[in-house]
Amino acid sequence: SHISIAIDGPAAAGKSTIAKRVAKKLGFLYIDTGAMYRAVTLYVLEHGDDIIKDIASHIHITFGINDEVYLNNKDVSKEIRSPEVTNNVSRVAAAGEVRTYLVDMQREISRTSSVVMDGRDIGTTVLPDADLKVFMMASPEVRAERRLLEETARGNNIDLATLTAEIIRRDEIDSTREISPLVQAHDAVLLDTSQLSIEEAEAKIIQLAED
Ligand code: C5P
Repeated sequence: SHISIAIDGPAAAGKSTIAKRVAKKLGFLYIDTGAMYRAVTLYVLEHGDDIIKDIASHIHITFGINDEVYLNNKDVSKEIRSPEVTNNVSRVAAAGEVRTYLVDMQREISRTSSVVMDGRDIGTTVLPDADLKVFMMASPEVRAERRLLEETARGNNIDLATLTAEIIRRDEIDSTREISPLVQAHDAVLLDTSQLSIEEAEAKIIQLAED
């Protein structure tokens, strides 16, 4: 039947860049679960926290063929990367109703297709029977530098200290929340990308997938 690869880890460890390439190489669907939490957060910021308890009746999330994210049929790929969404996403993602809704959706996708799914709780909660689990990490310095390059490329002018603080704060909330916190699954392979190029990290995962 379908094959699934779970890639979890802290913010800016390289998960989405590498997961995307692995998915392409293997011909699997790439699912960025962080983008789903971001889309929900965008909606909550616009409509208020009250809708969280009835999230499923408000929100419809879909992906385009180039990994664009659609919220209620509108392309929100850019908006979900805004500093406001980034600064609120961990709080919204801690809500049980939000997690139940998105985890169900993520499991449903994995039933219909082979996937490379990246997030925080894929190996522990969403796909505990995944064929391969990778826990990707990198030093805080490397992660902040990578995020700085991304933000600069998007035209955002944010300094390294601010980005470092944001990453550390988000990891802290994600790791200490009550429901499926960010933690390495017992059967996940630890991959430290601090000293690896994108190509090396990709090759490592392909090799693990072939074993
Ligand atoms: O992957 P990204 O950094 O875009 O994720 C944004 C946020 O979404 C994370 O900091 C976390 O709070 C939340 N998230 C989550 N579970 C996932 C994926 C993301 O709680 N599976």
